Amino acid sequence: MKPIRGQCACGEVAYQLERPPLYVHACHCTRCQRETGTAFALNAMIETSQLTVLRGHAQFAKLPTDSGNRHWAACCPRCHTLLWNAHGSRSPVIVYLRVGTLEAPQAWPPQAHIFVRSKLPWMVLEPAVPAFAAYYDVAGTWPADSLARYAEAKAARAAKAARP
Ligand SMILES: [Zn+2]
Ligand SMILES: [Zn+2]
Repeated sequence: MKPIRGQCACGEVAYQLERPPLYVHACHCTRCQRETGTAFALNAMIETSQLTVLRGHAQFAKLPTDSGNRHWAACCPRCHTLLWNAHGSRSPVIVYLRVGTLEAPQAWPPQAHIFVRSKLPWMVLEPAVPAFAAYYDVAGTWPADSLARYAEAKAARAAKAARP
């Protein structure tokens, strides 16, 4: 497998994915619109354990979400490009990586559109790609191998937490 690498706009922070993303979705929620300054965010879900920072250190900003919770946004300390989002903690089981920061974003088109209830009206979606009014049922939507990887990552995290 060719390494899946990405970086921020200035190049201070660079990273690599050790496995392909679990799933890619385009999020049209109002928070993603504000965070990106555009119509939607293109997020690739990846296990935190499979994301290696090759260079630099991301800085974390705590931001509000549409669900009322807060999440951590990992940004370059120099150019402030947002590289990934971490929900719940700075190092959760999976992170939401910004596909546009990858070296080859064209390789990762969205497998679903979510929060289309706040989609900008001029944006026309490909009818073949599933669209959800808000969030979606991961168990009923992700491919089986991604669900298996997700379950494995959750089990590994629980085992780590249980260790004295
Ligand atoms: Zn940067
Ligand atoms: Zn969103």
